[in-house]
Amino acid sequence: SNVLEGKVVVVTGAASGIGRAVAISAAQHGAKAVIVSDIGDAPREGGTKATTEIESLGVPVRFVRADVSRRQDNDALIEAAAEFGGVDVMVCNAGITAKADGFDVTEEDFHRLMSVNLDGTLFGAQAAARQMKANGKAGSIVLMASMGGIVGAGMTVAYSTSKGGVVLMAKAMADALGPDGIRVNAVCPGTIDTHLLRTNPGIAAATEGFRQRTPLRRLGKPSEIGDAVAWLGSDMSSYVTGISLLVDGGLLSV
Ligand code: NAD
Repeated sequence: SNVLEGKVVVVTGAASGIGRAVAISAAQHGAKAVIVSDIGDAPREGGTKATTEIESLGVPVRFVRADVSRRQDNDALIEAAAEFGGVDVMVCNAGITAKADGFDVTEEDFHRLMSVNLDGTLFGAQAAARQMKANGKAGSIVLMASMGGIVGAGMTVAYSTSKGGVVLMAKAMADALGPDGIRVNAVCPGTIDTHLLRTNPGIAAATEGFRQRTPLRRLGKPSEIGDAVAWLGSDMSSYVTGISLLVDGGLLSV
């Protein structure tokens, strides 16, 4: 499809998993340019870098190294979009889990998780919205939440708390930025087959149970989140703001 034709798309946490798929999907859906960003640029699971895939589609691409928990990194990332006329679609995707989450999560793990999942999402959205306003653009900001932000789970106390925050951040920002024509929505993936899912001990152990309770009886593919983000980024969703879109094979929806 060409639903993102003419749009400059910026994606954080794009070296791996969902972010990588979102960035590639943006190029496949006709984006004018894609800026990919991550704390490191090595793809985590073998495979090719998002930049290589996007280049092969003939779409201009840039990589910017950025730790989303640092405000200056987000500002520098958004500045990289100026070359193409400024950001139209900002995808705040970078997020982490804590290895030992749960009720006894340590202070250190809790704070690191919040600084990536909440500070990182806030700073990215702020930087993007400032540039959109300066350019008079009715842009779209997509925040990566989780089904864990809709229902709490005892094994992921810190993670659920952060993602619940992201869901409410989308609503509050949608209200704040709506008068400027800027839309803000969250995507809540269910169980998606990525590095995060396979390497977090608590989540990995629960995956088979999730699969059995999912009406579609399978894990989601990262590209299926990419397609949902493309819709929210595009003008196909021009009257949609403040929502949290579950993309979970029906797990929480039935
Ligand atoms: P992943 O671990 O495969 O990818 C996350 C990427 O974020 C990595 O490339 C990592 O280097 C990057 N990152 C980590 N800390 C960063 C930082 N401080 N600054 C910049 N980049 C950083 O995980 P994923 O499954 O692709 O997750 C992507 C997003 O989707 C996360 O926000 C995650 O919480 C969310 N999510 C995933 C699932 C799932 O089932 N996989 C479900 C719901 C939500």
